[in-house]
Amino acid sequence: MIDVALLGIIRRWYIRDRISIREIARRLDISRNTVRRYIRSDVSEPAYPARRSPSSLDDFTARLSAWLSAEAVKSWKQRRTLKQMFLDLRELGYEGSYDRVAAFSRQWRVGQMERVKSASKSTQTRLRLEEEFGKPSVARTKKVTDISNYLKKNIDSLLTGDPAQLLAHIKHFEKKFNWFHVYALANPTAKSAAYDKEKAAVVRAVYNAFNYDKFSRPRSTWGAYKLVMTYGKRICPYCNLNHINFHSRPRGIPKKMKVLEMRPPLDHYYPRFSYPYLGISLYNLIPCCHQCNSSIKLQKDPLTEGLPHPFEFPAKAFSFTVQDIGKFDKPVKAEEIKISFGCKPGPVQEHVTFFALPERYNWYVHEIADMHSKYLSYTSAPKELSAALKRDMVLPFKPGTGAERTLGFCMEDIFNSLEKQFSK
Ligand SMILES: [Zn+2]
Repeated sequence: MIDVALLGIIRRWYIRDRISIREIARRLDISRNTVRRYIRSDVSEPAYPARRSPSSLDDFTARLSAWLSAEAVKSWKQRRTLKQMFLDLRELGYEGSYDRVAAFSRQWRVGQMERVKSASKSTQTRLRLEEEFGKPSVARTKKVTDISNYLKKNIDSLLTGDPAQLLAHIKHFEKKFNWFHVYALANPTAKSAAYDKEKAAVVRAVYNAFNYDKFSRPRSTWGAYKLVMTYGKRICPYCNLNHINFHSRPRGIPKKMKVLEMRPPLDHYYPRFSYPYLGISLYNLIPCCHQCNSSIKLQKDPLTEGLPHPFEFPAKAFSFTVQDIGKFDKPVKAEEIKISFGCKPGPVQEHVTFFALPERYNWYVHEIADMHSKYLSYTSAPKELSAALKRDMVLPFKPGTGAERTLGFCMEDIFNSLEKQFSK
């Protein structure tokens, strides 16, 4: 039997996102043959999936897995909560308890992380470390052996550790091998007086062992493409303004056939020139937009700039409104709109300033003006109709899904402040 909701997801992933059959099967935890059957099926998707009969979670696990994949990485401000997913499942006909949904989600997360960890190939990196540190150019002193042993011993945590673990490694290096970061960043040439043959060889060995250039090329095994796909994000986590489009080669398509392969830049949150041992760490590679990566973040060090890790933003870290909202009861020109940015002082404020978010958001006053004029045009309708029109027609996306839309949080917040000000 073909499940139309599932069919929609599978077709979207396969046709639009060019995700491989194998990957779809993995995400949905169904067999590859089932995926193929869905792709080949000639059932067409209804615009609105039919309401299902009362059922248990088993009938919804595929859908829930897909949702969890989409929410897998904490977003900028707040991702869709499990509670919301539970309510959406109820809407689709699920009649079970929240606890079952929560239990499924826990199980799913453990499985997901295991897959990523096993895919990240720590053994391969360990072998490369052996090879690089075994080269004749690398001195056999205690200082050098200590670094090599530390890296080998902590390889798993270096590659897949969470942001706190990565920071702990940096602190360890600063304490035990205090010359390393300084020398790596300065990277003096052989002619320079600061050049030190032994140090240069060690830095190069570490840099080569955690080889990002190799990692970043399109390939079917673990690498930059797989990483971006695992995150499943659509929007830049630094600014929430730009898309981070991703297209990969579907499995089974021969190499000589030209297909669109494109991924967003991966920003080294901790720059790899200073911290070469974090060159291919899962949580050090942030899929982000070109503006954030190439015009703003560059090789800047978040520790010097006081920037928080983008996946560790506190919920409701900042909010948006428009200046002088009182005058928005009548049409205003885009030029008169000024988007104002509210955020807690501290690291989040640093982030906002560093990424020039207030200036960048104010580029979008035209979109806000469009939204406002729609809002106004619905206010004169009878009360109930007006409420429904505003709810469904003003925002260009479903309320609550702002995290997955460009400008999403900003539009949601401004919409809410308009509501607060004018709907009596
Ligand atoms: Zn960005």
